[in-house]
Amino acid sequence: TDLAHIRNFSIVAHIDHGKSTLADRLIQATGTVQDREMKEQMLDAMDIERERGITIKANTVRIDYRADDGETYVLNLIDTPGHVDFAYEVSRSMRAVEGSLLVVDSTQGVEAQTLANVYQAIDADHEIVPVLNKIDLPASDCDKVAGQIEDVIGIDAHDAIRVSAKTGEGIHETLEAIVHRLPAPRGDAAAPLRAMLVDSWYDAYLGVVVLVRIMDGVLRKGDRVRMMQNGSVHQVDRIGVFRPMMAVVDALGPGEIGFLTASIKQVRDTRVGDTITHEKRGCDTPLPGFKPSQPVVFCGLFPVDSAEFEDLREAIEKLALNDASFSSEMETSAALGFGFRCGFLGLLHLEVIRDRIEREYDIELITTAPSVVYHVFMKDGEVIELHNPADMPDLTYVDHVEEPRIRATILVPDEYLGDVLKLCQDRRGIQLDLTYAGPRAMVVYDLPLNEVVFDFYDRLKSVTKGYASFDYQLTEYRADNLVKMSVLVNEEPVDALSMLVHRDRAEMRGRAMVEKLKELIPRHMFKIPIQAAIGGKVVARETLSALRKDVTAKCYGGDVSRKKKLLEKQKKGKKKMRQFGRVEIPQEAFISALKMD
Ligand code: GDP
Ligand code: MG
Repeated sequence: TDLAHIRNFSIVAHIDHGKSTLADRLIQATGTVQDREMKEQMLDAMDIERERGITIKANTVRIDYRADDGETYVLNLIDTPGHVDFAYEVSRSMRAVEGSLLVVDSTQGVEAQTLANVYQAIDADHEIVPVLNKIDLPASDCDKVAGQIEDVIGIDAHDAIRVSAKTGEGIHETLEAIVHRLPAPRGDAAAPLRAMLVDSWYDAYLGVVVLVRIMDGVLRKGDRVRMMQNGSVHQVDRIGVFRPMMAVVDALGPGEIGFLTASIKQVRDTRVGDTITHEKRGCDTPLPGFKPSQPVVFCGLFPVDSAEFEDLREAIEKLALNDASFSSEMETSAALGFGFRCGFLGLLHLEVIRDRIEREYDIELITTAPSVVYHVFMKDGEVIELHNPADMPDLTYVDHVEEPRIRATILVPDEYLGDVLKLCQDRRGIQLDLTYAGPRAMVVYDLPLNEVVFDFYDRLKSVTKGYASFDYQLTEYRADNLVKMSVLVNEEPVDALSMLVHRDRAEMRGRAMVEKLKELIPRHMFKIPIQAAIGGKVVARETLSALRKDVTAKCYGGDVSRKKKLLEKQKKGKKKMRQFGRVEIPQEAFISALKMD
């Protein structure tokens, strides 16, 4: 296809504003998929995504559209992941296209993710077409929302397209706008091949599938190509496009978006953002801006039933095959047995992986408290990247500790503003900005990521009754007065419960933890001290008093079957307990203790 007849675009939106539904309508209106094949939300493939209504992996579709001018255009839509955890992937897929449809729900207005995503599009120099969706609903107020787009985002919205992705109204206008308002791609077919690796995933039949955007040159079946990051060379055995099903083609030229397969074994060998060129007569310089996505949140995953450890290993290996940003290494914990320390891009990423292990592999898991990566500066000059608070070196050798900070943007109706400010303040936040967008306030805070990975999002939802929207980006590492807090049960440290906390909050956290554990740990035949300590100094203590009676004591006399049942129940309970020194701690105790507040 010649460049003048190609349009590449993405759709940016806050969750639930109608991105997937609009994509479906565009696909359907152009006859790309026959009506009977049309499933709702064609582009949201995974079950979890469907259930949660979020798109995690970027998906893509090529649409042929015969426009009102009589010409046929190729429209390539890349559906970007909508969540902050995947910000880097979003930014790469944005660089693969020239324009964006900015979808805003005309009954809701601009939200935090609208802003985060549209700024990515602006960064990538996109032409942006605002689309006001859900005009079929009575609460729709297009003029107000258009005004808000102009005020808050600062882009012209007077010719925003008014659409109902539900009824199909405005879909034709949207297609015409894509053709006439978005620019055609540029590129040189005669130049050496430069293709951007936009995404990759593992397919059971084809092996690793690589989504590429051709910048310059032409990619053909049988070509030998080189990944510029690691220098590996592969022979391309298949290239094609998505309609949205895979369709093989002979060549992909400048401006085109499609896939290649090349007997690549692992997704790990295909880093998002890398440049692909020909092995011979390749280009000299890669596309700018490559950086591999790094896990920022770590936690331990342990099987509830230790017999399932091997199954868990297999599940993790399979998931890692398809997800280069998910890392894992084996870990043993005195409290929880054998498991894995895993790294994620953020909390949602963690939740998705955990859900998939539990659901697809049917393994019940214990998840330890998520922790960020700390930089520990030793007095001898060494710097340690700390992924697990249990590994914190002795404080006497530590000079200082740095933690990752974020810039968080929260949009919230005025009446909940006070609660949100208090929440941010409680989490060691520093207010950077506070402005109004209509009846809603937009607050920007500098916060420690550590305080956010815990339960910030849940708290925010509950104090605002779900009306706040939230987004963040990592900014820098900064030193603060951070200490390791250990929890001791019957004088034995419980590694799975140790955490890094701010010195000023240590007592409070410690107190809450020991009080909770006192409720959760069953009484034993002896007294059990439960303590929280910082470097040997106890900051909070509770004592669990001793138990005398045995469980069958309340069944007087002869009811043997009831006695048996109780004993059996007790035996079952035991299986789920972990022997800790002489103390047995039920699994639920860990889970609940780790969920503070
Ligand atoms: P996404 O999270 O941005 O992908 O949003 P979805 O496409 O999943 O849409 C979120 C919800 O809004 C779904 O329940 C859709 O059926 C609904 N929805 C999307 N577009 C419209 C519309 O134009 N009108 C109405 N009434 N509902 C819509
Ligand atoms: Mg969606």
